[in-house]
Amino acid sequence: MALDRALIFLGPPGAGKGTQAKRVAARCQVPHLSTGDMFRDAVSRGTELGRLAKPIMERGELVPDEIVMGMVQERLARPDCAHGFVFDGFPRTIAQAERLDAILKKQGFGLPLVVEFRLCEAAIIRRLAGRWTCAVGGEIYNINEQPPRVPGVCDRDGGKLVQRADDKPEVVKERLASYERHTKPLAEYYRREGALEVIDASASVEMVDCALGEILKRAQGRDGHL
Ligand SMILES: [Zn+2]
Repeated sequence: MALDRALIFLGPPGAGKGTQAKRVAARCQVPHLSTGDMFRDAVSRGTELGRLAKPIMERGELVPDEIVMGMVQERLARPDCAHGFVFDGFPRTIAQAERLDAILKKQGFGLPLVVEFRLCEAAIIRRLAGRWTCAVGGEIYNINEQPPRVPGVCDRDGGKLVQRADDKPEVVKERLASYERHTKPLAEYYRREGALEVIDASASVEMVDCALGEILKRAQGRDGHL
């Protein structure tokens, strides 16, 4: 399936957007972009922005929008993004979305297709409490819904599964409050742009996968491109 479009997945932590973003990116053969990966990439390549961001990240502080948007612009200009990409967890604020719109326009992309993953708070907390992450490859498991074949061990690379500090209930509540305050208004921003689709993220991975497939198919033009 050809993409030729920017896809943006919005949703609270635990809504499964990371898993779906990886699947869609693989299916459409475009990069899956999260800000964390973009930062790590810029830091490891030693770019100017990477060098600016590194000490800020090491202090655990929020990287300023100037640097974030600069990294996004550099990343989207690379050839592997020419046929689209999937943004996972970015943008986080309306200010970032407005600047992203300008970057997309400059790169020759039209309106992004934005998918909001919806899930109620109780379900999010239940889900994140069961979430374990592979210390080696970053694969995510859920002991209730998608358990690994061997408890505590990654199916793919045998890595040890650990519970991330920010998946613990008290931290989850803070992350949700931040999502509601800063990121939730983005759904409204994109709805006004006419770019928003909504998915019920409480369904199984297979059901969500199927709903997402329908959205992509509907968004596809006559030439088979989105
Ligand atoms: Zn692994």
